[in-house]
Amino acid sequence: MPQNLLDLDLEGLTAWFGELGEKPFRARQVFHWMHQSGVADFAQMTDIAKSLREKLQQHATIQAPAISYAHASADGTRKWLFDVGVANGIETVFIPEDDRGTLCVSSQVGCALECTFCSTGRQGFNRNLTVAEIIGQLWVAQHSLKHEPNRTTGEISERPVSNVVMMGMGEPLANFENVVTALGIMLDDHAYGLSRRRVTVSTSGLVPAMDRLAERCPVALAVSLHAPNDALRDQIVPINKKYPLRELMAACRRYLAHAPRDFITFEYVMLAGVNDRAEHARQLIELTRDVPCKFNLIPFNPFPESGYEKPRAESIRVFRQILQDAGYVVTTRKTRGGDIDAACGQLAGKVADKSGRVLKRMHKEAA
Ligand code: SAH
Ligand code: SF4
Repeated sequence: MPQNLLDLDLEGLTAWFGELGEKPFRARQVFHWMHQSGVADFAQMTDIAKSLREKLQQHATIQAPAISYAHASADGTRKWLFDVGVANGIETVFIPEDDRGTLCVSSQVGCALECTFCSTGRQGFNRNLTVAEIIGQLWVAQHSLKHEPNRTTGEISERPVSNVVMMGMGEPLANFENVVTALGIMLDDHAYGLSRRRVTVSTSGLVPAMDRLAERCPVALAVSLHAPNDALRDQIVPINKKYPLRELMAACRRYLAHAPRDFITFEYVMLAGVNDRAEHARQLIELTRDVPCKFNLIPFNPFPESGYEKPRAESIRVFRQILQDAGYVVTTRKTRGGDIDAACGQLAGKVADKSGRVLKRMHKEAA
């Protein structure tokens, strides 16, 4: 089997080149060609000796997952469905904004954690994605978008993807090693050079893996909270029975010790009549008192037979106001790409607008 070079970070690639009897700087050159230029064909790597190119052709490939569907929405949102050989494939969504382009990346096919309001959780777990399948989502997006004018600004950018959020299908921390290797490639200046704060891992709260992530790669962390007390969270995020809120909050504080000046983003899917009452907002304030954090309220995204409903705008407004009055920064996730169904289950307008612009706009709309 040829080695898929997209499976390797620079360290791994250098070691693999070593086995071929090639010097580390050759690995670096090939790494640049792959990730910075988006070249998958060794024949196009013009500054590499022909003999090495031939050797690579024999022993290696550069293979991102195959695109089975790609679509552009009127608002500039892009969606790809990748064929990963099983189930319905995985999805990746690109959301352009004035000052950034955010890619929502999947980490697993399905998910084993069975959150009750999540369509991926309902599908069950199929398998972990490989490093090549994870980084391949960024590779495809970055290189297919870089010659197109941004729909919002009209500008052509060499690096249209400025932010990555691991908020697609799957629980990233349940596929720890592959996700951490892929994160390393995203951050590597020889590849995508994204800063630590522009890459976000979203977790439902796998406490031991949060500690390991803090040690290995302390990127921005989003925690899917969804409930302010254990009784309710046990019901809708079952992993809570294993890692209850006290432990989760302690893990958040430990995480921030590795990422000073950062904050945790608490995601909160709002489910009508379940977790959206004023008293829940007040409990959240108590719960998160000692954790520097922001809140991202996500109106539930309905899917067939989910059994849940999206709250009324008024409940969301009241909930948000209680948190804001307590001094929290709160964003409400907007839904984008609705016309291409980027707004399905997992991938619904995933992106927190950290600048608060959406918030202001929402205020204006509400006024
Ligand atoms: N497994 C990770 C990351 C993927 S899910 C996690 O749970 O954090 C990304 C976010 O989408 C999570 O906050 C998740 O709870 C939320 N989500 C899942 N299903 C949703 C739905 N139907 N409507 C709105 N948000 C949803
Ligand atoms: Fe898995 Fe996240 Fe969905 Fe829960 S919300 S089932 S952890 S993908």
